[in-house]
Order: sequence, then structure tokens, then C-alpha cells
Amino acid sequence: MAADRMLQFVEREQHYPDKRTAAERAQDFREIAERYAAPDADEQAARCSQCGVPYCSVHCPLHNHIPDWLRLTAEGRLREAYELSNATSTMPEICGRICPQDRLCEGNCVIEFSGHGAVTIGSVEKYITDTAWTEGWVEPLVPGRATGQSVGIIGAGPAGLTAAEYLRVQGHEVHVYDRHDRAGGLLTYGIPGFKLEKDVVMRRIDRLAAGGIHFHLGFEVGGDATLDVLRQKHEALLIATGVYKAREINVPGNDAQGVIAALDYLVASNRKGFGDAVPAFDDGSLDAEGKHVVVIGGGDTAMDCVRTAVRQGAKSVKCLYRRDRDNMPGSQREVANAEEEGVEFVWLSAPASFTADTHVKQVAVAGMRLGAPDASGRRSPERDPGRQFDLPADMVIKALGFDPEELPNLFGAPELSVTRWGTLRVDHQTMMTSLPGVFAAGDIVRGASLVVWGIRDGRDVSEQMSKWLKARSKGEKKAA
Ligand SMILES: Cc1cc2nc3c(=O)[nH]c(=O)nc-3n(C[C@H](O)[C@H](O)[C@H](O)COP(=O)(O)OP(=O)(O)OC[C@H]3O[C@@H](n4cnc5c(N)ncnc54)[C@H](O)[C@@H]3O)c2cc1C
Ligand code: SF4
Repeated sequence: MAADRMLQFVEREQHYPDKRTAAERAQDFREIAERYAAPDADEQAARCSQCGVPYCSVHCPLHNHIPDWLRLTAEGRLREAYELSNATSTMPEICGRICPQDRLCEGNCVIEFSGHGAVTIGSVEKYITDTAWTEGWVEPLVPGRATGQSVGIIGAGPAGLTAAEYLRVQGHEVHVYDRHDRAGGLLTYGIPGFKLEKDVVMRRIDRLAAGGIHFHLGFEVGGDATLDVLRQKHEALLIATGVYKAREINVPGNDAQGVIAALDYLVASNRKGFGDAVPAFDDGSLDAEGKHVVVIGGGDTAMDCVRTAVRQGAKSVKCLYRRDRDNMPGSQREVANAEEEGVEFVWLSAPASFTADTHVKQVAVAGMRLGAPDASGRRSPERDPGRQFDLPADMVIKALGFDPEELPNLFGAPELSVTRWGTLRVDHQTMMTSLPGVFAAGDIVRGASLVVWGIRDGRDVSEQMSKWLKARSKGEKKAA
């Protein structure tokens, strides 16, 4: 392994020869670091031990060349570091901001194992590509030689956008359909702006549009066209629609005024960030200002809700979760951030009912305890009869996760095969669904996952689609 990596270094040196002296490099680095007020990026990068086994890369879903771009950063060779990081990712600065690094690259850093704290890989990745944007190193998207074949992509989230980029580079005509008025999927309307600034997402989309990718926004497949209509229009289709059916809590008072769905709340907040008119925010229904807020759930969506409520000026913010801290699905880093901001976590607790007159005013809470492990190995929560209490609440946000919508019905395509969880069934090698020429990727195949996995799937499916399109074109030529 060590020898392989040495060879890679040598090869890279041949591709990216650095003709500057060490003093010149250091000076360049100092200037850039000062300009972007990130004086510790080089120090962080230099902490990488260049260990022989790059666990960080192995545990990054994109297998980014992390030690190599850290080394280049430490040497002040930022442009080369950017080019290397860009080679495996369509949006490194976005992953750098919002990947749960503690569970991926940084959680597997050998320096972390030795108790000295991981290299902050995500922040260096963000820094490198932000610098590239500001310095004008990010190249426009250049389409490949036209193949004459057209591809339709349903869903403009990270999976759809990544596939769109690579397929355009292959020379295909690419049309992206999305029911929202802006592209980006959950990058745009789910993840809050304090974690991911929206101009960072929009500049990526502008680059794709400038590269000739056609965006059809406000276009709902199922409403504005059936799947079959799109199959007639394009040689191949990709379904990358994500998962949007919110899981419900079946307790009394569930439909009271003031008991709202997490995504309605986050979309409204993100729209306000864009400066859109949002009547349900302006009349107070989706604004937490001055309210006692209770968020139910323990995943990343719940963390985004509690932190958004704090920023909107809520009087108090509590997060109710039925398991304990060690058994929650969300990132521990996010919990720590939320606690620092004043959020109170009420572990081992679930709502028993919501009390309301015209509007919710209280949550009756049932205490829980952890029983035997379930099929996934996590201990299942069960009722603790000795604990129950009430919490005041003017706003209750339900953040229990998402399931897939019923796509075969919605798309008017009953022959589209789904798994028992409702996700699309694909051939795991070709990534093709049960319909020839119709592929699928991202959350709609995996179930609710992560942006970086959406990017990985978009990268993989574009390869499979290109192969399939080539074979189809060969077949057509032979038949002619
Ligand atoms: C609140 C929230 C916060 C999150 N935070 C993080 C985080 O910090 N880090 C992280 O890594 N992951 C996070 N995730 C998960 C991450 O956002 C998703 O895993 C990722 O966006 C999935 O990408 P995707 O392309 O498969 O789908 P999506 O991003 O969901 O995009 C799907 C797109 O398809 C469109 N669409 C759906 N149906 C139709 C239709 N019928 N016709 C036309 N268009 C349609 C939608 O409008 C959407 O734009 C978060 C998720 C949520 C809900
Ligand atoms: S893409 Fe995510 S997991 Fe991979 S190096 Fe970047 S921050 Fe780490």
C-alpha cells in the first residue's frame, strides 16, 4: 500500500510540477491564507501524518484523495489541491460544509485514534474550493462532443445534479426536471442556510446551466407529465427524486394548529432566506420567534429544526427523543452545537398527546427506557410507566424522518418495481430499474441518506447510463 501511494505521489508530481522555491510557496500560501481569513488551514493540513493506510479516504464515500490534497495544501499548492479534490467530487465545498465528518473521514483519521484530535478535513476541503471559486480556478463546464442522445433527469438534488454534470461532459443533451422553483433539492430547501449558504449552492447550479444543461423547474413528474411521456422524449431517464413522505406520530392532538411538519418549517425558513414572500411564515404559523418550541426526533432534520428555532428567537427549544444520546441517529457534533446554542435535549421521552384549545399549548410526555436490541442492533425503546410529565409548547415540530412517496402510482407507471420499503428496486450493477433505460440513484434507492452518498450515486449512475447509451447507439447503427 505504502509503495502504491509513493508511486501515486511521483505520478502526481509529474502532472503538477511546482516550479516555485520553498520560500515562494510559503509566501504564496501566507498571502492566500490571510486573504481568506483561514490562517489555520495549512496548520491543519500539515498535521496529516501521511499514514500508509488512508482510512480517511476509505471511509469517504467518494474515496477522495485526502492525504494528497492535505499535503498539497500544507505546501501552499492550493490550486493543485483544489484540482485533485475536484477530480472525485462535483461539489467539494458543499461536502466540506455539511458531511457528518465525525462519522466518515475525520472519524477514521489515525491521529484521532491516537487521541490527538482528527485533522479537520472538511474545513480544509471547504477552504480549498472556496479559494478556487474566488481565484477563478473553477473551470466552466465544457460539454463533450455531441452524441446526439438526450437524457432526462427527474430531481435536481445532489444525485441528479452530479449525474447531469458527468453526462453533459460525455456530450449528451441533458434535461433536468424538478417540481421546485429552484434546483438543488434538499441542498436548497432542506439544509438551513447557517450550515450551507445558499449562494454556494446556486453558483454550482449556474455553472451547470451555463454548460448547457436545461432546467425545467416547477415541473412535477406525475402532474405535468407521466413517466411514459418523458421516456418517449429521451433515450434514457434517471429518477433521483429523494424521499419526502414524512413519518407521522399517531397520538391525540396530532392535527392541532401549531403541530407542524419539519420540512414545511425548514422550507419556509429557507425561502425567507432567499427573500421570497412566505405568507405562512409572515402570519407566524411557521415562525418560532417568541415561542416555546418542542421538536420531536433525534436525526439530522431534528437538529436543523432546533438550531433554526434558536436563530428565529424562540423563547425555549426542547428536543424530545425516545432513545438516549448514545443511540440517536443524528451526528454527535450537531447535538453538541445545539446544546451550546441553548437547546435542551429531553432523552428517553416520546409524546403521548398534544393538548390544544384553538392552538397547541402543551405536550404530554411519556418516559421511555431501552429494552433488548432490535434487528439493527440498536436497543428498542419501550414505555417506562414510572415517568410522565408535561411540557409547555406553542409550536411542535415533527421530525421523525422520511419514507419514499409511492412513485409507481404518482408517475402513472405501475410496472416500476419497488422494494418493501417503497424505495426503487434497481439492478445493483447497472443501477437500472425494472424499466429498460430508466435508472435511479440517491435517496430514492437508498432511503434517507447523505449528500455525499447522493454525489457518489450520481457519479456511478452516470457511468452506467453512458455505457448503456453507447451500447444502444451501437445497436441502432448496426440495425440501420
Ligand atoms: C432537513 C434535512 C437536513 C439534512 N442535512 C444533511 C446534512 O447536513 N448533511 C448531509 O450529508 N445530508 C443531509 N441531509 C440528507 C441529504 O440532504 C439527502 O440525503 C440528499 O439531499 C439526497 O439527495 P437526492 O439527490 O437523492 O435527493 P433530494 O436532495 O431530495 O432531491 C430530490 C429532488 O427531486 C425533486 N422531486 C421529487 N419528486 C419529484 C417529482 N415528482 N417531479 C419532479 N421533481 C421531483 C425534489 O423537488 C428535489 O429537488 C439532510 C436531509 C434533510 C431532510
Ligand atoms: S466528501 Fe465528506 S467524507 Fe469525503 S472527505 Fe469530504 S467531508 Fe470527508
